[in-house]
Amino acid sequence: MQVVIVGGGIVGCAGAYYLAERGADVVVCERSNIGAGSTERSAGGIRAQFSTPVNVALSQASAQVWEQFEEEFDTDIAYRRPGYLFLAREEATAEGFADAVAVQNERGVPSELLTPEEAQERCPGLRCEAFRAATYSPTDGFADPHLALQGFATGTRESGAEIRTGVEVTGVLREEDAVVGVETTGGRIEADFVVNAAGPWARRIAGMVGIDLPVVPERRQIVVVEPETPVPESVPMTIDLDTGSYFRPERDGAALVGGHFSSPASADPDAYDRTTDLDWTVEALEHAADCATYFGLDSRVRRGWAGLYAVTPDHHPIIEETVPGFVNAVGFSGHGFQHAPATGKLVAELVFEGSASLVDISGLDGARFEEERTVEEWNVA
Ligand SMILES: Cc1cc2nc3c(=O)[nH]c(=O)nc-3n(C[C@H](O)[C@H](O)[C@H](O)COP(=O)(O)OP(=O)(O)OC[C@H]3O[C@@H](n4cnc5c(N)ncnc54)[C@H](O)[C@@H]3O)c2cc1C
Repeated sequence: MQVVIVGGGIVGCAGAYYLAERGADVVVCERSNIGAGSTERSAGGIRAQFSTPVNVALSQASAQVWEQFEEEFDTDIAYRRPGYLFLAREEATAEGFADAVAVQNERGVPSELLTPEEAQERCPGLRCEAFRAATYSPTDGFADPHLALQGFATGTRESGAEIRTGVEVTGVLREEDAVVGVETTGGRIEADFVVNAAGPWARRIAGMVGIDLPVVPERRQIVVVEPETPVPESVPMTIDLDTGSYFRPERDGAALVGGHFSSPASADPDAYDRTTDLDWTVEALEHAADCATYFGLDSRVRRGWAGLYAVTPDHHPIIEETVPGFVNAVGFSGHGFQHAPATGKLVAELVFEGSASLVDISGLDGARFEEERTVEEWNVA
């Protein structure tokens, strides 16, 4: 079985790894360097606290890999699990929390509803008077996206797959209806399957087989902050859902601060500003200071960057064989780092079995948008 994967981010490399492990002859084409898209710009968050069954299932299937990653890939990915803390200021948000925790608990996720005072026990600097309710799960956490990607890439190469960097896919070749390979800047490659793992460029690649996918690149920013008061490493990833702001501890008392505060606008993945805006930085720090006492006026910004989410209208990915021989694994809407292990296995199932069994992805087809079968994910930062 010959497979070409378009995109050497974490989704493409995870797919390549699981395909090669099952004996496929895999070539990953990456137009730049591996990780040059969204993966290296991610906050590395890994959680099961989603509001829909399919996202919870993708998290649980991925967790099995994250928990064993160091052994399987011989790579320490700095995986830490201080939990995720979601916070509600509004009544409607608090009501949604109860529903989300029920969905999670039904599937065995040990999340719980907390009062703001209980939340403060998890995050001692929390300004608990600002909030109505919280949810927390101790098994959530984060890992280093760069190290995780290197782990998958090394595993991929050791399994016999080839990663060609500096090679751009310029067209998908078809005979009658079936995909037969790709045209690239390094020449033609024949394939039985082509996998679209192009992240923010996914719509362009899908367009090469005449599919229009509603996957929109949206710019998101992060800063590394030296807070006035150090953030202990035991503090969870803390998400103030009603303002869209979040922070989590880094090493040595520093914190990663992110969030999105204005209406989303589509960005050009070839020409967006990869540095942070001053206005956004000020706003992000103000929101963080409204949420927790760590971020006083003497906080300092060390560095920051911007990257792209590949967003779908319902904040769920599209994972399917959309036309014969053409598999989409796209539109992760800010969750593609953590869901890459499950996605890689699902891609291998779609290629080898023609259907998926690891997770029920029947609702993650591309036609759901036109057919109005979407289910919105609410726990989105
Ligand atoms: C600020 C920020 C914070 C985030 N935080 C989190 C988080 O906490 N947790 C989480 O799970 N996710 C997070 N994400 C999202 C996560 O980074 C992405 O969902 C994930 O990296 C997607 O991986 P990917 O492999 O699909 O795409 P990418 O990493 O973007 O890889 C796609 C690759 O395709 C290549 N490519 C494009 N076109 C072509 C072509 N024609 N030929 C060859 N190659 C091509 C690109 O160069 C790129 O390397 C965050 C994202 C951002 C921006």
